[in-house]
Amino acid sequence: MTFSPELFSTTAVRGGLAADPATGAVLTPIYQSTTYHQQAVGVHKGFTYSRAANPTVSALEAALGALEDTPPAVCFATGMAAISTLFLAVLRSGDHVVVGDVVYGGTMRLFQQVLANFGVEASFVDTSDPAAVKQAIQPNTRLVFIETPANPTLKLTDIAAVAKVAHTSGVKLAVDNTFLTPVLQRPLELGADITLLSTTKYIEGHNSTVGGSIATHDPALLERLRLVRKTLGCIQSPQESWLTLRGLKTLPLRLQQHSINAQKIAEWLERHPKVARVYYPGLASFPQFALAEKQQSLPGGMLAFELKGGADAGIQLMNTVRLCLLAENLGAVETLITHPVSMTHGDVPRDIRERTGITDGLVRLSVGLENPADIVADLESALAGITPQPAQKRRELGTPSTAETKEEPCLAK
Ligand code: PLP
Repeated sequence: MTFSPELFSTTAVRGGLAADPATGAVLTPIYQSTTYHQQAVGVHKGFTYSRAANPTVSALEAALGALEDTPPAVCFATGMAAISTLFLAVLRSGDHVVVGDVVYGGTMRLFQQVLANFGVEASFVDTSDPAAVKQAIQPNTRLVFIETPANPTLKLTDIAAVAKVAHTSGVKLAVDNTFLTPVLQRPLELGADITLLSTTKYIEGHNSTVGGSIATHDPALLERLRLVRKTLGCIQSPQESWLTLRGLKTLPLRLQQHSINAQKIAEWLERHPKVARVYYPGLASFPQFALAEKQQSLPGGMLAFELKGGADAGIQLMNTVRLCLLAENLGAVETLITHPVSMTHGDVPRDIRERTGITDGLVRLSVGLENPADIVADLESALAGITPQPAQKRRELGTPSTAETKEEPCLAK
């Protein structure tokens, strides 16, 4: 790998930003204003209404653009708002998209339960195999959309290889780079056309905001994204943008430590007798270890694992950890432990989950910045307490409960 996280330290702190021209404030203020005084009809300072643009949001867009080495990014209220806006901006009824078969559950739900109603078709493909991507491309395919590493199994896709396949057919490649960010992986430099981030995760990094961004070198696409965002009304808020700007400044530093901690925990888990398998791109046993070394500057802070006792054991573990917090989200300073099947991937159909290794017992760990020895001690004591459970009749995991009863809310995020 030809770059290291420190290369981005100056850009993360200062890139795209300048002291506030009105006051000299070193940090861009929170411009909490809906509207802007216009000097005359049609004469203004670039801001008219905060659904279209806002100076604090623009500062975040410039900062993220600097990190991506693109023009200013386009920022959204959530990662899902970014993903939804991308598809609404570039697709029409009758279009087809090749989507990785392991992606965040909300992305899959978007295709299956929303875009399908508008005549947009998706094929969920094992994009770790460029030949499978090639085979899935149809005359009406407009986009290939991948996550790498993918949520939750960490499966990798060779960005350069898939970009080549897509471009040969005149199709664009979009990469959800949420797990690594441009500090650890550079999709646009590997040939992708579009990168997306849920800034909710590592970019802001403190479990305090939700947000999303899209970057590209294509000026027409940037303009289209801004038009669709203004129309849908899904721009990021000034307050959340400010917090995200603050989080961004420590991103390279945090990612290095997340990665160091995750490596230690993954190695420890792999040696534990109750652990069946560990998915972490920094382990020599990871099937795509060589690709991780080529494509990423570090393995990152996310890992997943399965216990020998299957779903019962995994659920007991998640119910008994104390320092690791059982919660959704990832990429923040607190270590979060997640059960993908009932939380983030509950809307992924069972056949796809079974085919792609999203088992009922899969445990996802977003390794935080606590002392890794404390995280290990927490996992150790939870693992020690696991006992075989009597067979019991359980509601099928991952089935949103609203489908069955009116009382319980849907679990899938
Ligand atoms: N992309 C990935 C890889 C995610 O993990 C998530 C959420 O978990 C999203 C996108 C959606 O982001 P948000 O929750 O900010 O809408």
